[in-house]
Amino acid sequence: MTPLLSGVDLRKAFGKTTALDGADFEIWPGEVVAVMGPSGSGKSTLLHCLAGIIQPDSGTVTYDGRDIATMPDGPRSALRRTEFGFVFQFGQLVTELTCLENVALPLRLAGVKRAVAERQAREWLERLEVGSVATKRPGEVSGGQGQRVAVARAMVTEPRVLFADEPTGALDSLSGERVMNLLVSTAKQTETAIVLVTHEARVAAYSDREVTVRDGKTISFSPVTRP
Ligand code: ADP
Ligand code: ADP
Repeated sequence: MTPLLSGVDLRKAFGKTTALDGADFEIWPGEVVAVMGPSGSGKSTLLHCLAGIIQPDSGTVTYDGRDIATMPDGPRSALRRTEFGFVFQFGQLVTELTCLENVALPLRLAGVKRAVAERQAREWLERLEVGSVATKRPGEVSGGQGQRVAVARAMVTEPRVLFADEPTGALDSLSGERVMNLLVSTAKQTETAIVLVTHEARVAAYSDREVTVRDGKTISFSPVTRP
């Protein structure tokens, strides 16, 4: 058995700033791993390297037996669209589309017919308990509802890995808990692994395992729990 996704000795500099200085990471199918650490420690850069959004200066990123750190842009971007999902802190929904159309969008872009895409989008909105906002635009819903719509959109393609960077960072603690509960419970049902970047211990508490990043290095790994 090998991990679903792993990063080994990842290094990345932006000019004179060293963002990653030999970071290691691994995640198993269905596992929820929190990446913790202070602001500026390299958490987002680690997530971007693991997700194939940026290429590390050195080190390897292996997803399902394939090295994505050195994969050409085309296949890397196709892999991101089909196998990975993304949820960020803000601003990810298309403001001109309804919430339903937003969730259907990744399926439409993958060539799924409108009726089928919208039916699946509606199911995902309901799973995230935001079926009632289907016909609203993102500007007409609360922050917590918007994040649950964003989770539905990230999950509608049934990714094997969901990358969540401070997904509750802009929410009050009650809406944040609701988002985390639904995010983790739906991911467990679909065996989606989650790389959860957060600096908040109460968000990390939803994970199976925590990894701490400091000065671009992963300094602690709690024991691997193979789900
Ligand atoms: P964290 O997510 O833990 O806050 P980041 O990975 O965003 O940390 O950043 C790590 C370091 O790299 C910081 O010093 C940050 O300013 C720097 N950095 C990150 N991205 C860039 C970039 N695109 N250009 C320049 N510096 C960057
Ligand atoms: P493509 O160009 O092949 O459509 P993109 O590069 O636009 O692929 O993005 C693929 C996924 O990566 C999207 O879900 C997008 O939200 C995410 N993404 C792209 N660039 C960034 C970035 N700089 N920071 C965070 N996420 C990004």
